[in-house]
Amino acid sequence: MFQAIYLDHAATTPTDPRVVEAMQPYFSEFYGNPSSPHRFGRKAERAIELARDTIAEILHCPRGAIVFTGCGTESDNLALRGPVVAAKMTGKRARVITAKTEHHAVSATAAQIGATMDTDVTFLPVTREGIVTPDALRSALQVGPVDAVTIVSVMYGNNEVGTIQPIRELAAVAHQYGALFHTDAVQAGGQLPMDVQALGVDMLSLSAHKFYGPKGVGLLYVREGVPLLSAQTGGGQENDRRSGTHNVPLIVGLARALELAYTSLAARAADYARHRDRLILEIPRLIPGTHLTGSAERLPNHASCVFEGVNGNTLLMHLDMAGIAASSGSACNTGNPEPSEVLLTMGYPSALALGSLRLTVGRQTTDAEIDRVLEVLPDAVAKLRSVKVTPVES
Ligand code: PLP
Repeated sequence: MFQAIYLDHAATTPTDPRVVEAMQPYFSEFYGNPSSPHRFGRKAERAIELARDTIAEILHCPRGAIVFTGCGTESDNLALRGPVVAAKMTGKRARVITAKTEHHAVSATAAQIGATMDTDVTFLPVTREGIVTPDALRSALQVGPVDAVTIVSVMYGNNEVGTIQPIRELAAVAHQYGALFHTDAVQAGGQLPMDVQALGVDMLSLSAHKFYGPKGVGLLYVREGVPLLSAQTGGGQENDRRSGTHNVPLIVGLARALELAYTSLAARAADYARHRDRLILEIPRLIPGTHLTGSAERLPNHASCVFEGVNGNTLLMHLDMAGIAASSGSACNTGNPEPSEVLLTMGYPSALALGSLRLTVGRQTTDAEIDRVLEVLPDAVAKLRSVKVTPVES
């Protein structure tokens, strides 16, 4: 009997025991509130500042540019809403430019900003591979309200299809037109280089649970000088950009996880890519009617495809019964009977978009596990294709 195989690392990763160990003392031993002036508070504050230093070194930014948040979703919300609120406070117009292939933390936030904050929102077209081209962004920036504070948000690596966006080029185009550039790097965290200077971005979101850190903690890098006013008011922590008592153990865990992930990034990415490439090569060979989704430039751990004549959600149940945990796209959308908006935006017809599968490998993935997936998957797909649906008599 095979042990369960976890190939859903894009949804979340297990917390590394070394991260748990680093966090442990900050629950019950060093429990002070970092905002308190006494020794208990100072001990906690020191832990947060050490965490900030570790992260600043990896991101190549000043320590004050890091804002700790409660998750990737919150970081994305702050990146989009913060500059809009700041613009409104000074009587300026605002504009958000993004794409429907973004995670809902960005696309739904942009839509809500458009509906409620008297702000223009533009959704950019993408290629069949899910890429936002610099030309598409340039065309959007050439029209629209002049003098508006414009925030462009394009993700670093896509959660459903793994596509890596040309972030440097897109950020450069945004800057040519005086716009701010944010990237949601939640899926890229622990997989791709994270030097914010080299990327040229003004804001960048990360979430610890995607790179073997704890759930419920994230960060937003905000370049100095970016006008950002949080809609969340309160105690003024994080330089007024994220009010609320710091979650010290989780922040310590975030920094430790990032440190571990970036200590041997290249070797680990190569390991991931070896497993991924076996999946990408073998699945279309073994299963006719398979179309790989995403681009050649894809996240190292990410394989995704659509199968003709298969329902992705039913396939997931079959795989689960065989002990394989996978996803049909975004974890938030798994089980949703509607086709993925990401695949529809990329130009896939609904029927095909419904047959999607995402396999994302991780640190513990073995060759034997990939062998097992390649053994089980063709049978599961064939079985689903052989089922004839009998129309219900009325
Ligand atoms: N952005 C992307 C690309 C994601 O994949 C996710 C989570 O899956 C998020 C944002 C949200 O992060 P969190 O789960 O920390 O809220």
